[in-house]
Amino acid sequence: MIIKPRIRGFICTTAHPAGCAAHVNEQVEYVRKQGSVAGMPKRILVIGASTGYGLASRIVPAFAGGASTIGVFFEKAGEDGRTGSAGWYNSVAFEKAAHAAGLYAKSINGDAFSDAIKQQTIDLIKKDLGQVDGVIYSLASPRRTHPRTGVTHSSTLKPIGAPYTAKTVNTDKGVVHDITLESASEQEIADTVTVMGGEDWEMWIDALRAAGVLADNAFTVAYSYIGPDLTWAIYRNGTIGRAKEDLEATAKRLQDKLGKTGGHAVVSVNKALVTQASSAIPVVPLYISLLYKVMKAEGLHEGCIEQIYRLFAERLKGGAPTSVDEAGRIRIDDWEMRPHIQQAVAKLWPDVSTENLDALSDMAGYRTEFLKLFGFGLPGVDYEAEADPVAPMPSAS
Ligand code: NAD
Repeated sequence: MIIKPRIRGFICTTAHPAGCAAHVNEQVEYVRKQGSVAGMPKRILVIGASTGYGLASRIVPAFAGGASTIGVFFEKAGEDGRTGSAGWYNSVAFEKAAHAAGLYAKSINGDAFSDAIKQQTIDLIKKDLGQVDGVIYSLASPRRTHPRTGVTHSSTLKPIGAPYTAKTVNTDKGVVHDITLESASEQEIADTVTVMGGEDWEMWIDALRAAGVLADNAFTVAYSYIGPDLTWAIYRNGTIGRAKEDLEATAKRLQDKLGKTGGHAVVSVNKALVTQASSAIPVVPLYISLLYKVMKAEGLHEGCIEQIYRLFAERLKGGAPTSVDEAGRIRIDDWEMRPHIQQAVAKLWPDVSTENLDALSDMAGYRTEFLKLFGFGLPGVDYEAEADPVAPMPSAS
């Protein structure tokens, strides 16, 4: 079939297998060019490994450190006449690149929140690797079925305490408009914490330790976001911010557990970037398009792969945090949060409108990045050619 992007609001319902492979290979090449990172832990489990920050967190240990990787994700395989999800094609491409480089790489596709997938992962680690030295937790999900109660909780992206009105952009149509978001109920706050907070991360670490498959000095890292005043009401002070506070509190509890045997548990606060997860948050895509404009002009722009390479090369060396903020978090959002960057974005914010969006912001760059997430717009890919949507996972055969 000929595969074209089909955009519905903030998602693209199609993905291009060759384009996703080109996107993965671009990231692999970036890492190869940067060179290897000394002391990289050698057996890595990535939960949420197929797109965005998690995919980069699989590529960096593999290609900068020769690590064996197991990736867990929840994606859709392609069928005849129907494309799979980008994360599926990314993972097929990652495995192919890893295997070609002589690296171990296997993947588990299913609900990471479930006991069954945790057990399947433990069994695979026991069989193939014995133990893992690092666990990267990079899930972003709109819902979670709790493994103890069977209740499905949905996360919401709402302010807390009072309704909030702010500028936002329809990224598809390029229209800037005001949006008013009602404040979250206590139930919505609790549900968002259940989905995106730290409980599942802790369940993973507890399960891996109980099964004896976590090495004594293993590290674990999960990703958070803070951001500036402009997004404060919807992000850090909103429902998702509560979940991130819970995630950060979980890191401290996990540090108490892992620290006893020389391990580390830490949260890394990452930069705002175009991913499938961030494009669903109101207000944030407009902020990102202004941020990209400013950071590119300053030569400070990074994508997921640059962020995660810097994380492992400089901030989480050998799995041990080298420098953390007053709350114990790694801050690779440091360039985003530099005062002159934030001042420049804040200066543009009141002026940006539908009419001047392309001039003031990097909406073009935002759209290019968004399409790349689904394998579209990659150089060297013939998008007019017939593409086979069926792409078996190499490690499954
Ligand atoms: P993403 O949407 O690109 O990736 C989400 C991953 O989670 C995918 O691999 C997906 O398959 C997996 N997943 C979702 N539900 C699952 C389930 N039930 N079982 C197994 N796998 C499942 O998201 P992202 O933006 O890379 O976010 C990853 C983390 O980084 C999140 O914690 C997010 O808050 C954080 N973060 C993101 C940004 C940003 O701007 N994108 C900034 C800072 C921190």
